Amino acid sequence: MASSRAKTIRIGFLLTVLAGVLLFAWRDVSRRNARNEWRDPLSVGVVILDASGPVSALDPAAVATLHSGIGALGNRLSREYERYHTTTRSMIQTVPYGPVAVDAAPPQLEADDWWSLVKYTWDVQRYVWNVDSRAAVPSRGLDSRIYIVATPVRDAAAKWVEGASQQGGRFGFAVVELDESTVDLVLFVAAHELMHTLGASDKYTASGTLIPDGLGDPEQKPLFPQRYAEVMARNRVLGPGREVVPETLDELRVGRLTAREIGWLR
Ligand SMILES: [Zn+2]
Repeated sequence: MASSRAKTIRIGFLLTVLAGVLLFAWRDVSRRNARNEWRDPLSVGVVILDASGPVSALDPAAVATLHSGIGALGNRLSREYERYHTTTRSMIQTVPYGPVAVDAAPPQLEADDWWSLVKYTWDVQRYVWNVDSRAAVPSRGLDSRIYIVATPVRDAAAKWVEGASQQGGRFGFAVVELDESTVDLVLFVAAHELMHTLGASDKYTASGTLIPDGLGDPEQKPLFPQRYAEVMARNRVLGPGREVVPETLDELRVGRLTAREIGWLR
């Protein structure tokens, strides 16, 4: 008798927990989907992580330029929104946080199986909790968070940046080499990763930019050299088989296919 009552209580407790988890998941999915409806401005936290070692080796001037550039990024993306919609509101607001020191790069997905994915999700969540608490990033109110993991430039001839983001998720990471000359490229990659969190797909492959969807302006006449770089293609196409990384944020364009994927066009 007593054990059957204990069992009933235990099952009742587990059902309550399950209902709570399902409710949380449902609310999280509907809030993430709401980002693509663009009824309200999108609020994006961009967190600078200093991965240069126990003693920071980042150039303070480059960090300061990046910090102020993060605000400008929101303005640049809001102007792109206005190419598709008439509005008086700034629809993308980007808020800088950090820098905070980290002793490890963000976790990476090691394999495609179910268990690796669960482990990766947990590791990323722990990584993000840790840096958010140290950078005073609020746990509520931000629609997406992009983490810029910065080290100094090692080889001036081959400055590199790369990113990884949850497609349609909450977080994106840009792993970058930072100095004054790479700030705009770093912001461009941050925008690219942000677009991934909103559901945009890459517009390039190993053989280069996809044409026409990856062109900054597919209507441009003559078509080449392109004046703009599409955010999900990353590069500015000079001609067939020739492309360069963007130099300034002014070259950034959100093309029609990307605009459709993130809900700017229906
Ligand atoms: Zn990408």
